[in-house]
Amino acid sequence: MRIILIGPPGAGKGTQAKRLVDGFGIPHVSTGDMLRAAVKAGTAMGRLADEAMRAGKLVSDDIIVGIVRDRLKEPDAQAGVLLDGFPRTVPQAEALDVMLEAEDLALDAVVLMEVPDDLIVERIVGRRSDPETGAIYHLVFDPPPPEVADRLVHRADDTEEAVRSRLAAYHAQTAPIVPFYEAKGLVKRVDGVGAPDEVTARVRAALGR
Ligand code: ADP
Ligand code: ADP
Repeated sequence: MRIILIGPPGAGKGTQAKRLVDGFGIPHVSTGDMLRAAVKAGTAMGRLADEAMRAGKLVSDDIIVGIVRDRLKEPDAQAGVLLDGFPRTVPQAEALDVMLEAEDLALDAVVLMEVPDDLIVERIVGRRSDPETGAIYHLVFDPPPPEVADRLVHRADDTEEAVRSRLAAYHAQTAPIVPFYEAKGLVKRVDGVGAPDEVTARVRAALGR
């Protein structure tokens, strides 16, 4: 099964992806997570990506397409993949098509998680993640247990200023991939507002699983 999760920053893509992959037996491939790992490791690619990420701008298509191409060649991605945060531009979507066609593979669905802009800033500013387990929390909507509170990380780009820039990038550069996939009949729209369990049920229903 090959699924793409798209939606604005803070739509709940990471939260839902973690819940879905367990049942589906496919890896969760998040370009944001891969870029943050490269920044942390101080690789050449990480140094190139860091500035754009901090400013809430997109990293260049060349870099992103290269890391996804390498990741899709890994053995665990052969049976399928859940892509989170990729593609984010029409050229990335076109590059993914070429990659899949070369292997005679196809996408099963593109899940569009819809959350209005006015809920996004609050979700992003309160987001915290656990570097040891990868768990995503929210200070108000999904409070972390006290025993992990000291080690939680607040992302450098989870400021109000950067999130406004990411939202603008989403509307200008990412939203146009929706008609691209609609033309292929792949888009499933899911309301991302409500408790995370409810949203998971909606995504599963949209996917028929
Ligand atoms: P994305 O990967 O789309 O940027 P996340 O899954 O990281 O989004 O979620 C962003 C923030 O919103 C996190 O703090 C998360 O705990 C919180 N969140 C996720 N889903 C919901 C929801 N259904 N309702 C309220 N808050 C949510
Ligand atoms: P969010 O949780 O806000 O949806 P991500 O973790 O997916 O954010 O991405 C964080 C940042 O990493 C983005 O703002 C962007 O700078 C960069 N990034 C991630 N995926 C891509 C991509 N497919 N194309 C370009 N830049 C990307």
